[in-house]
Amino acid sequence: MIAALSQNTVNLAYLVAAVCFVVGIRMLSSPRTARVGNVVSAAGMIVAIVFTLLLESVDRYAFVLAGIAIGATIGAVGARTVRMTAMPQMVALLNGAGGGAAAGVAIAEFDRLTRFGGTPPGETAAAIVTSTVLGGLTLAGSVVAFGKLQELIRGRPIVFPGQQVVNALVFSAAVALAVISAPAGETWLLGLAFVVAAVFGVLFVLPIGGADMPVVIALLNAFSGLGAVGAGFVLDNNALIIGGALVGASGTLLTLLMAKAMNRSVANVLFGAFGQIQTSLGERGEVEGTVRATTPHDVAVQLSYSRKVIIVPGYGMAVAQAQHDIGALADLLAEQGVDVKYAIHPVAGRMPGHMNVLLAEAQVPYSQLYEMERINPEFPQADVALVIGANDVTNPAANTDPASPIYGMPILEVDKAASVVVLKRSMNPGFSGIDNDLYLDPKTTMLFGDARESVLHLITAMKDQ
Ligand code: NDP
Repeated sequence: MIAALSQNTVNLAYLVAAVCFVVGIRMLSSPRTARVGNVVSAAGMIVAIVFTLLLESVDRYAFVLAGIAIGATIGAVGARTVRMTAMPQMVALLNGAGGGAAAGVAIAEFDRLTRFGGTPPGETAAAIVTSTVLGGLTLAGSVVAFGKLQELIRGRPIVFPGQQVVNALVFSAAVALAVISAPAGETWLLGLAFVVAAVFGVLFVLPIGGADMPVVIALLNAFSGLGAVGAGFVLDNNALIIGGALVGASGTLLTLLMAKAMNRSVANVLFGAFGQIQTSLGERGEVEGTVRATTPHDVAVQLSYSRKVIIVPGYGMAVAQAQHDIGALADLLAEQGVDVKYAIHPVAGRMPGHMNVLLAEAQVPYSQLYEMERINPEFPQADVALVIGANDVTNPAANTDPASPIYGMPILEVDKAASVVVLKRSMNPGFSGIDNDLYLDPKTTMLFGDARESVLHLITAMKDQ
């Protein structure tokens, strides 16, 4: 028999957990402290779970432990086996699971409260409505985001006439059903609200294509947090309220930052042109102009004679797992007296911080990583901008071509360097599907091939000189 603890004792433990969450998140802001931050936050979560289980109101431990065992197994296997490049899909699924769990809690509690003809009190009903609607849309929206990122669903926007009106009507219907379910005390009505909210989630994410995906993932993250806050109020659980509020707030901030990095206002993201930006993408099809292919030997010579080289990593670096070899190449250049810096675009790769994580894993000193605002003024002084598997985040059309769908999006201004060397496998476009005129620029040369193999060839060529 486990001794039950008083609510006061448990609340004190929740305070400790909340402090762990806040300190942990703070530590995530630097790659140097991020690992420890993750452990601190996880410790907070363990404290919250253990003390919740010791509450008097908790029984049926077999069910709880079975749930923990299943969840922990899926989480541990997922975290160990999912490739770094598939991390955004995993985050999307985790968001969805969070939202779905919040809705599940709300619906189960509603059913308990109304089972014998009662109705939930006003504030509980409001929390139940919030959790059910947000949870439904987050679950389904996240599954669609997963499908898009995993390329199970077309990455291009899926649009149809009157989409915004249909979306608004479906969302209103979900809210209306959830609201009327409370005084009616009918669980099936709330269940229907969940299903309609899920339909809205699908319709909401389906039109979003390519380059807008990071914003929607951050937004779904915020929704899952707000859904958890609702569930916290339903259960009167402070840890859930605090944890959910932190996720909601950080997801919202991330949404704002991502929207800024992609030059989309959040209002624009929420109410309108979501995805529309991409309807003209890829129309040009073929690349016209002269492409200059180069060899590892020529690039090695070029790099050796440089005073300043700026390395621009992108998604291709993650696919090729080239980060360790890029670090070795940078060290080799530094030994030869070359000033080497890395330019980090906020949405390079497939998740916020993707490049930072990979380069930190390769032990690249954090002091060599420069955010976009800091490095852009340095490109005009660089002899070589070495673009490794980055595409969209370097597309000069964003600065120069008002007709381009990405016009106005902040980019790394690699075209300002004296010369540009691009490591990629083909002339294929990046995630957004837009051709990149950088590759036709007379000062650009292309080193075709897998990024890791190309970097290894470069290292060999440099050593052979
Ligand atoms: P891009 O997707 O624009 O381009 C990546 C390039 O890498 C491709 O053109 C591809 O060309 C090349 N590549 C792929 N595999 C390899 C390989 N093994 N070796 C060498 N090259 C390779 O990447 P960016 O990082 O420049 O931009 C990120 C894009 O992803 C942006 O559009 C952003 O909006 C979007 N996005 C970002 C998210 C985030 O949070 N960071 C989340 C979701 C989307 P090729 O096939 O010819 O080799």
